[in-house]
Amino acid sequence: AGSGKFFVGGNWKCNGTKDSITKLVSDLNSAKLETDVDVVVAPPFVYLDQVNATLTDRIEVSAQNSWIGKGGAFTGEISVEQLKDIGCKWVILGHSERRHVIGEDDQFIGKKAAYALNEGLGVIACIGELLEEREAGKTFDVCFQQLKSFADVVPSWDNIVIAYEPVWAIGTGKVATPQQAQEVHVAVRDWLKKNVSEEVASKTRIIYGGSVNGSNCVELAKQEDIDGFLVGGASLKGPEFATIVNSVI
Ligand code: PEP
Repeated sequence: AGSGKFFVGGNWKCNGTKDSITKLVSDLNSAKLETDVDVVVAPPFVYLDQVNATLTDRIEVSAQNSWIGKGGAFTGEISVEQLKDIGCKWVILGHSERRHVIGEDDQFIGKKAAYALNEGLGVIACIGELLEEREAGKTFDVCFQQLKSFADVVPSWDNIVIAYEPVWAIGTGKVATPQQAQEVHVAVRDWLKKNVSEEVASKTRIIYGGSVNGSNCVELAKQEDIDGFLVGGASLKGPEFATIVNSVI
């Protein structure tokens, strides 16, 4: 971990029921969490209000998506204003499942990020390469392109956390090695230094996501440029998520 405050997000994706989420919230409320870590969880939209009302204030709540602009005649969408109205502080944007399963492109994701940031929501901005892109030696190109599409439109970097999530590691049980992750995190920081500013490069947290669990988090957290994690599967288990939050040393 670097000098910025460690940041751990739990992405619950499209999982859970009222009952299972009540149990997860209760486990999180009784977990012992290191004080010097920002902790955020992202429940499915329909449970956001329930979670925010019952979860300890120690943990902030994030959405998993948001609409590109003000609400209105956009069937099925959720606006940033509505998220703020129920007390949501963050939104995950550019997640690989939205890029590669739903088909969102850089431009669309950039619009969402700009709107959310302008309205005062924090953005967890996800980037990451596919396996074939890694194998073709294109990891940096892909990540820099995705990063640029955020950098081109965001009003400021004050409220952004970058999540490097190699697509081949998400939900596969195939975690990046600490060296593989560190290498990309350094490259991302370097890109920010050259293309945004030295200040933004040093203060922006770059977190890793992709099959992080209670057993591999400590080695990853030791890396200088890994400032936290975005956790999918393992965030559905309260005690394991707490272990990951507490992995920073
Ligand atoms: C994610 O969805 O952001 C993620 C990293 O998932 P998992 O931890 O399950 O690989």
